[in-house]
Amino acid sequence: MAELWKGAPTAAALMEDLTGRIERLSGAGVTPTLAIVRVGERPDDRAYETGAVKRCEKAGVAVKRFPLPAGCSALELRAVLEHINAVSEIHGCLLLRPLPDPAMEEMACALLDPKKDVDCMTPAALAGVFAGKGWGYPPCTAQACLELLKYYKTALTGKRAVVVGRSLVIGKPVSMLLQAENATVTMCHTRTVDLPAVCRGAEVLIAAAGRANLLGAAHVSPGQVVLDVGINVDKDGKLCGDVKFDEAEPVVSAITPVPGGVGAVTTAVLVKHVVEAAERTLK
Ligand code: NAP
Repeated sequence: MAELWKGAPTAAALMEDLTGRIERLSGAGVTPTLAIVRVGERPDDRAYETGAVKRCEKAGVAVKRFPLPAGCSALELRAVLEHINAVSEIHGCLLLRPLPDPAMEEMACALLDPKKDVDCMTPAALAGVFAGKGWGYPPCTAQACLELLKYYKTALTGKRAVVVGRSLVIGKPVSMLLQAENATVTMCHTRTVDLPAVCRGAEVLIAAAGRANLLGAAHVSPGQVVLDVGINVDKDGKLCGDVKFDEAEPVVSAITPVPGGVGAVTTAVLVKHVVEAAERTLK
C-alpha cells in the first residue's frame, strides 16, 4: 500500500514560509499584487481563479482581476497587458490559458513583461528555466511537482525519472527541473514505443498527458513515487487523473491523489512567485 501524498501539507508549508516574507514586504510598504487575466467563462478557468484568489487573499497578497469576454479582440487583451506591464504596484500576472484564439495567446506571451511572468508564459522565462540559470519562474504546476518531492524528502540525484507528456506547460519544464536536481530524465509522448516498459523503469513517474486513466498496473512497479498531474473527467463525469489510482496504489511506494494532490500545491507556488517578484522590486 502506497503512502498518499496529498498536496495540502506541502501547500501549508509553503504558505508558512511565505508569511514572514509577506510581513517584511508590508513593512517596506509593498503589498505583493497579482493580476489575473481571464478570457471567457470556462468553468476550469473560473475554478482555478477562485482558488488562486482565495489563497492570495488569505496570505495578504492582493489580486486585481481582469475578466474579458470570450469574443474580445486582440486589441482589448493587448490594452490590459500593457496596463499590467505599466503599473508598478502589480508584481505578477497570471493569464489563464489556453485562450480561445491561439494567435492571441502568442501575442500575449510575447507582450507580458517577463519580470511579471509568474507562470512561465513568456519566451524569456521559459529560456531561463531551460537554461537552468535560476532566472524566470517555472510554470506553477511544474514547480508544484518539485515542491511535493522536496516536502516528502525525495532525493533526486541519480534517480531515473520518467515524465509522460512533453508540453511547454508541464512536461518539458518539469523535465528540466528534475534534470537540474540531477535526475536522469526520460520524456515520453504519443510516439513513445512501449510506454508501459519505460514507465515501469522509473523511480519517479510523473504523469502529465491529460488522458483519463492512461496509466495502469502495466505502467507501475514497486518502490516508485508517482505524481499524477492530470486533471480529467472520466466517462462517468467524475474528476480523475492520468493514473488508474486503484491499480497503481497497491504497487507503488507513494502516489498523489486527484483531486487534492499536485493541483492543491499549484496556487501556493503561484503566491510564492508573486512574493518573489515583489521582493525583486526592492532589490
Ligand atoms: P497537453 O498540452 O495536451 O499535452 C499532453 C502531452 O501528453 C503531450 O505531449 C502528448 O504527446 C502527451 N500524451 C497524450 N496522450 C498520450 C499517450 N496516450 N501516451 C503518451 N503521451 C501522451 O496537456 P498539458 O497542458 O501538458 O496538461 C496535461 C494535464 O495536466 C491535463 O490533464 C491538464 O488538465 C493537467 N493540468 C494540471 C494542472 C494542475 O495544477 N494539476 C495544471 C495544468 C494542467 P504529444 O506531444 O505526442 O502529443
